[in-house]
Amino acid sequence: MTQLEIARKGEISPQMQAVARAESVEVEAVRQGIADGKVVVPANVNHKNLVPCGVGAGLATKVNANIGTSSDYGDTATELEKLRVALEAGADAVMDLSTGGDIPAIRRAIIAASPRPIGTVPVYQAGVAAIEAHGAIVRMSVDDIFDAIEAHAREGVDFVTVHCGVTQGAIERLKQQGRVTDIVSRGGAFMVGWMLHNDRENPLYEEYDRLLAIAREYDVTLSLGDGMRPGSLADATDRTQVEELITLGELVERARAAGVQVMVEGPGHIPLDQIEMNIRLQKSLCKDAPFYVLGPLVTDIAAGYDHITSAIGGALAAMAGADFLCYVTPSEHLAIPDADDVREGVMASRIAAHAADIVKGIPGAAERDRKMSEARKRLDWEEQARLALDPEKVGRVHRQRATAGAACSMCGQFCAMDLVAQYLGVKAAKC
Ligand code: SF4
Repeated sequence: MTQLEIARKGEISPQMQAVARAESVEVEAVRQGIADGKVVVPANVNHKNLVPCGVGAGLATKVNANIGTSSDYGDTATELEKLRVALEAGADAVMDLSTGGDIPAIRRAIIAASPRPIGTVPVYQAGVAAIEAHGAIVRMSVDDIFDAIEAHAREGVDFVTVHCGVTQGAIERLKQQGRVTDIVSRGGAFMVGWMLHNDRENPLYEEYDRLLAIAREYDVTLSLGDGMRPGSLADATDRTQVEELITLGELVERARAAGVQVMVEGPGHIPLDQIEMNIRLQKSLCKDAPFYVLGPLVTDIAAGYDHITSAIGGALAAMAGADFLCYVTPSEHLAIPDADDVREGVMASRIAAHAADIVKGIPGAAERDRKMSEARKRLDWEEQARLALDPEKVGRVHRQRATAGAACSMCGQFCAMDLVAQYLGVKAAKC
C-alpha cells in the first residue's frame, strides 16, 4: 500500500510517525493531510536508508537541491560530492538530473548515499539513450519512456517529475500565444519535440493509467511537471501556463483516485505582484495538492545572482502557501552548478523557506528567531552559531575578523548591545 492508501484506511505508518516527530506536530494531522492529498511523503518502498520527509500543508516549507551531470561535466564522484554538500547545507530533498556519463550508475550511487528523498526526471535518461541508440530524442519509443520510469521506481527513486500536462492542446495554445521564451523546461522540450515529430499525443497523458500503476507499485510520488512554465516575466501567467495547470489539476484527481501520492510543479519566472495569485490558482485548480515551485525568479536580469532572485520569489510563494522550493543556484542560466553553487543555492532557499515558516506559524520557527535575538543581546556567539541557518559560516566569519572583548568587529568598542546594556544596567552576559 502507498502512504496515501494507508492514511485513507485510518492507519499510521512508521513514515508518518517520523514526519510528525521531525515537525513537532500530531501524527494524526500528518495522516489526515496525506489522506486529503494535501501532504505527500515521498518514500519509495525500495529506498532503504530513507529518513521520511513530509511536504505540504501544516508542515515546514521544504527545499530541494538539483544536482546531476550534463553532457559536458560531472561523473559519479562530482555528483556524490554535490549530494554531500547539499545535505550538509540542509537540503530536504535532492533531484538527480543527470544527462551525461553513466546515468543509471550515478543515480544508484546517489540513492544509496542519500537518507533524504531523491527525485529524478526519467525522460532525460530515455531521451539520452535514444540519442545514443538512434541518433535523436524523437526516436525514443513509448516503451522507452515507461521503461525508464519503471527502472527509476524499482531502484528507489522517491519522486519523479513527469510532464503529463504537455498535451497537443497545450502546444496549440503555445503556438497561438506567441511567447518571448517558448519552452524552458528541458523535459517539456523533450516531450514537445517528440510529439511534434511523431504527430502523436503525449504518452504520459494518453497512458496516464500506466504511469499510475508504476507509481502505486513502488509508492513513487508523482511530481506533475510544468513543461509550459514561463521562462521570462513577459510570459508569466499566460494562457499556455494556465491551460497546462488545468490539465494537471485533473490529473491530480486521477492520481489520488488510484492511491498515488501527487504534487504539482510551478513556475518559473513570475513578477512579484503575480506570485500570490499563482499560488492561489494552483491550490484551487489542483485541489490543494502540495505545490513545488521552481524559484520563482522575480526578475530576468540577475544572472550570476539568481539564487537571490529566487529566494525573494520563494519567500513570497511559500508565504502564500507553496510547500516545496526548488533551489536556484548562482550559476542558473549560465552553467551547470559546482559544489559551491550548490551550497549557496541551498542556503538561499532555506532562508526563503524559514522566512515564510515564521508567518505560516510552523512550530518552532518564530521561536528560533527570538532565541537568536536574545543570544545577540547577550553577545553569546556560540548560541548564535547554533541557532543560525549556517553555523559554520557564523563561527568562521566572527573568528576571522575578531576584536578585543566580547563584541564583534563591526562596531568594536562602540558595540551598541554592550553600551546600551551598561546604561540600562543590564550588563551583556559575556562582557
Ligand atoms: S559590535 Fe555592533 S554588530 Fe557586533 S554585536 Fe555589537 S552591536 Fe552588534
